[in-house]
Amino acid sequence: MPLKVHRDIASLVPYVPGKPIEELERELGIPHAVKLASNENPLGPSPKALAVLSDAAKTLHRYPDGGAHRLRGALADRWKVTPDHVILGNGSDEIIGMLAHAFLSPGDEAVMADQTFVIYKMEVTAAHGVPVVVPLKEWRHNLPAMADAVTARTRLVFVCNPNNPTGTMVSAAEVDALLARLPDQVITVLDEAYYEYVRSRDFPDSLGYVKQSRPVVVLRTFSKIYGLAGLRIGYGLTTPEITGYLNRVRPPFNANSLAQRAALAALDDEEHVAQSRAMNQAEMATVRAGLVALGLQPVPSEANFLYVDVGRDGREVFEELLREGVIVRHIEGRMVRVTIGLPEENKQFLQALTKVLRRSSEGKTGT
Ligand SMILES: *Cc1c(COP(=O)(O)O)cnc(C)c1O
Repeated sequence: MPLKVHRDIASLVPYVPGKPIEELERELGIPHAVKLASNENPLGPSPKALAVLSDAAKTLHRYPDGGAHRLRGALADRWKVTPDHVILGNGSDEIIGMLAHAFLSPGDEAVMADQTFVIYKMEVTAAHGVPVVVPLKEWRHNLPAMADAVTARTRLVFVCNPNNPTGTMVSAAEVDALLARLPDQVITVLDEAYYEYVRSRDFPDSLGYVKQSRPVVVLRTFSKIYGLAGLRIGYGLTTPEITGYLNRVRPPFNANSLAQRAALAALDDEEHVAQSRAMNQAEMATVRAGLVALGLQPVPSEANFLYVDVGRDGREVFEELLREGVIVRHIEGRMVRVTIGLPEENKQFLQALTKVLRRSSEGKTGT
């Protein structure tokens, strides 16, 4: 007998991870491939986080602290809330899944942008919800149109800020106006995975909404600036009422013990964060200038990556860059996303892209 699978699950496409760097090097015989595809911190993990791992490993025979008391306490102190405002996830990805499972009944709607973090659509569909997709406007979330898309069935609104893959931001005034229009039963998820990279003074005070007991969930992660993507740990800041529901669907030991200890140490490593931020800012300017010199116009970014129209089929450019030993991300059409790396990695990317684009323009003119 054939397996019976719900059509929502059958409709999903498994997430395609980027090619591991070692595999590319082996396949192409390239010694120094660079991976600028997943917005990781090129400086690596916080040294303070690395330093606690061997000690933490001594208790790997024990289950983790399922309540994650120390880490939740430290995050609560940092953000001036009580620990019942803090929920941890196996990456903030997992919290997106918990939100969908806790708050969507079959057929309920979740509003999101058309080009945004792919996990929202996947988790909403897996929870038998309906993703309602609103096109970006000039590469930014169109918040008035997202408010217009809300119906009596809407339970969640996802705002990725800064947005992945575009890098663009929505301002405090824009988010205020959105929230003013949303009915009480709608939870707004402000996914701030790149929060620590943002430089704009107009960025929303998202925690302020939580402190006012508004139905807002702020998502943050240790995967980006803290350099701990491999450990899988992220967190949400929201009202105790919402954490109460999320805890009902949270797997009891979802935040592993090494991740809890490393995150606690990384949180205190202000030097590593400051250094990562400063390097990103300087190198972003260099990569942007390099792209402009090639006649391209990268979208303004508040994050640690640039989104750029490469002027021809993005998949081909992605594949040709692979052959030059540079891994970026093809998003759709002519759009490619590149993570800001170390100075030498960025140089390698710009050289490879110059070569690839020059080759194609020569192809066109027949020389
Ligand atoms: C990287 C990223 C995350 C973080 O994912 P983790 O599961 O915490 O590693 C969340 N949201 C967005 C938009 C991201 O780009």
